[in-house]
Amino acid sequence: MPIPLQNGHEKDAFTRKRTPARRLRAAVRKARELAIVGRSLASTKHPVMAQIVPMRRCNLSCTYCNEYDDFSKPVPLEEMIRRVDHLGRLGTSIITISGGEPLLHPELDEVIRWIRKTGALAGMITNGYLLMPDRIQRLNKAGLDHMQISIDNVQPDEVSKKSLKVLDKKLQMLAEHANFHVNINSVVGGGIKNPNDALVIGRRALELGFTSTIGIIHDGDGQLKPLQDEERRVYFEMRSWKKRNYSRFNKFQEAIANGEPNDWRCRAGSRYLYICENGLVHYCSQQRGFPGVPLAEYTKADLKREFLTEKTCAPHCTISCVHQVSYIDHWRAPQTSSTSPGATQGLVNIST
Ligand code: SF4
Ligand code: SF4
Repeated sequence: MPIPLQNGHEKDAFTRKRTPARRLRAAVRKARELAIVGRSLASTKHPVMAQIVPMRRCNLSCTYCNEYDDFSKPVPLEEMIRRVDHLGRLGTSIITISGGEPLLHPELDEVIRWIRKTGALAGMITNGYLLMPDRIQRLNKAGLDHMQISIDNVQPDEVSKKSLKVLDKKLQMLAEHANFHVNINSVVGGGIKNPNDALVIGRRALELGFTSTIGIIHDGDGQLKPLQDEERRVYFEMRSWKKRNYSRFNKFQEAIANGEPNDWRCRAGSRYLYICENGLVHYCSQQRGFPGVPLAEYTKADLKREFLTEKTCAPHCTISCVHQVSYIDHWRAPQTSSTSPGATQGLVNIST
């Protein structure tokens, strides 16, 4: 069934053109992704994905977010290279740069180049505000593979300025210039006023030739709350677009939408690593401080220990990227020890 797009047409003047060069690049990227899946199935001894923060500062201040400040300096390039190299030595398959706002880092392109030198896929999560045609071209040249932009609402308000009204021009620039894969993530919950905004944003993403996903934001007390009826309706409608969506909703996200616990084995600290601006390894953005050891000292023995460690915050976890990474190993190696990394610290959970 065709997806009803915002203006009633499948495409508009800005729809991304699938040039031969872009098709080739997409095919090569797909082949690399398939190789990552094969390697991850063959061995549990390396991280599948690491998220790395080159800068905690952000140019926005979304009220639900606890992952930014307005003062910190960029991590020096030499230190970023050391960290990326170490992730490479651990055999990391995908390295995603996040923040804060990564585009504020003055040497971001070099970081991306270094990620590609390790053989990993290079990704980035950005609010998109600083994108311009020449900036996008530089990201192309650096070898960026994936970009995700989160858009929270159609009109900016006191909760979030990540709005379609503000960012649509940036999306048009990406459609014209980006050679990398672009996913637009919209959200429900967490004080976002109009759940239907997610549908408008998702349709616009598809209209421009991008992929579209939806996440759930939880309130600032960090409690897992079921979605309201209207939010759930929007959530499941976007789920029904799965044919063209990049990241399909699964039972895991359905349970989150319904406020139910999930039964799964979190492999954070092993298959997924979160590296903060201070170079420490954490389970994820929600559980900063655990295990909280320097990346430079993180070894294969740490990966093995954490692979086998149950995290008691798992049943109500909303971090779907960790779930997706962990799902590869769902069928093997029951976890033999357990840790409770402070699941109710009041951190904000963003499902991405
Ligand atoms: S959600 Fe993103 S854009 Fe908003 S304040 Fe946090 S890091 Fe910045
Ligand atoms: S919050 Fe989720 S991803 Fe983070 S350690 Fe707990 S279960 Fe794992």
